[in-house]
Amino acid sequence: MVISVASGKGGTGKTLVATSLAFSLRDHHKVQLLDCDVEEPNANILLRLAINQCHPVYIPVPKVDEAKCTYCGKCAEVCAYNAVAVLKNKVLVFPELCHGCGACSYLCPVSAITEEGRGVGVVEKGNSGNLELIQGRLNVGEARATPVISEVKKHIDLANTVIIDVSPGTSCPVIEAVKGTDFCLLVTEPTSFGLNDLTLAVEVTMELGIPCGVVINRDGVGDDKVDRYCQKQGIPVLLKIPLDRKIAMLYSKGISLVEGMPEWRGKFLRLFQDIRSIVAAYK
Ligand code: SF4
Ligand code: SF4
Repeated sequence: MVISVASGKGGTGKTLVATSLAFSLRDHHKVQLLDCDVEEPNANILLRLAINQCHPVYIPVPKVDEAKCTYCGKCAEVCAYNAVAVLKNKVLVFPELCHGCGACSYLCPVSAITEEGRGVGVVEKGNSGNLELIQGRLNVGEARATPVISEVKKHIDLANTVIIDVSPGTSCPVIEAVKGTDFCLLVTEPTSFGLNDLTLAVEVTMELGIPCGVVINRDGVGDDKVDRYCQKQGIPVLLKIPLDRKIAMLYSKGISLVEGMPEWRGKFLRLFQDIRSIVAAYK
């Protein structure tokens, strides 16, 4: 089973939930935690696994053989991202704008375009016992996270329980990470901001046809609008984590909830069982 852990906004405790779930399950299952928050992967601050593999991620970008080029302009015409400009006797390629779709090389009438790899990030791996971490890391300054996320997801082994730590928000990297998962756990906080962003995140899961449930973090800080919204939408609230100074202190020291407070292990195991029941009923 593949569970994505997402949140409409940053700072809700998504990584706390993803890592606590992974720590709770590893005594019972082989677990893969995929950190797809590739602009700022921080699950390993809590997991503390030694990284022992690192693979570069490349996207194909066009390389023009000007000896063959007739400067017909077709490549610039077909590029939806303005990554190619054709001058009178020069073709300019802007690699940072290129999405690697291959349309220009496919459509060049004289086969003047080949492709070369451009490094946009890395996929790193580490493991300990039943727990494996696969994390993506986007190069600084790169705009597009999705190629790195899709490379991370290629390491999914469905024989394991897979937990995906998704980047915050509802944009393309979130959709790339959440799509194809069996269940999406949405972490929010009981405030108006939390509700607003939760609503957007729920819409994404509905659009993708993925069942979802909610974890309310810092319960007690706000009001009951999130509860009422979930009730109205028929979305289960699967876990509430209270606003607790001790939890915040553990997190600030890089200690996960279930490591610092082992009494939470059972609650995360129940959370997993609930997710499993929902997924089974959904199929
Ligand atoms: S499509 Fe091919 S031939 Fe035409 S301008 Fe581009 S590279 Fe040159
Ligand atoms: S590969 Fe696609 S995005 Fe990149 S320059 Fe060619 S047409 Fe544009």
